[in-house]
Amino acid sequence: MMTDCLFCKIAAGEIPSAKVYEDEEILAFRDINPQAPVHILIIPKKHVASLAEVGEEDTALLGKIQVLTRKLAEQEGVAVSGFRIVSNSGPDSGQEVGHLHYHLMGGRDLMA
Ligand code: AMP
Ligand code: ZN
Repeated sequence: MMTDCLFCKIAAGEIPSAKVYEDEEILAFRDINPQAPVHILIIPKKHVASLAEVGEEDTALLGKIQVLTRKLAEQEGVAVSGFRIVSNSGPDSGQEVGHLHYHLMGGRDLMA
């Protein structure tokens, strides 16, 4: 755990979050400043700074996150209506929190 990392603290339960899913490796919680009716952040509990830092050893973890994304989209009622996954990586992307996370957004017309 990175002691100065916001999402490491959330993963460790040191900072509260509105959890929607948790297991040993992955946490999903609601974005504090939602940009869509459904806006969930999905993170690995282990500290990875961004997609720019993933390695071969993360293949299974990243695959699990993808399948979880589908399950959460169903649970949140947006699997059919549509949803979007965004993962910002690095300064040009506007990444604000330096711990890998996927935004799951849906619940309205994202093309609007
Ligand atoms: P990014 O710009 O991709 O790094 O996104 C960071 C996201 O984290 C933003 O959408 C924020 O609203 C969200 N965020 C920041 N702090 C918290 C928090 N304590 N709980 C939930 N979401 C947060
Ligand atoms: Zn972290």
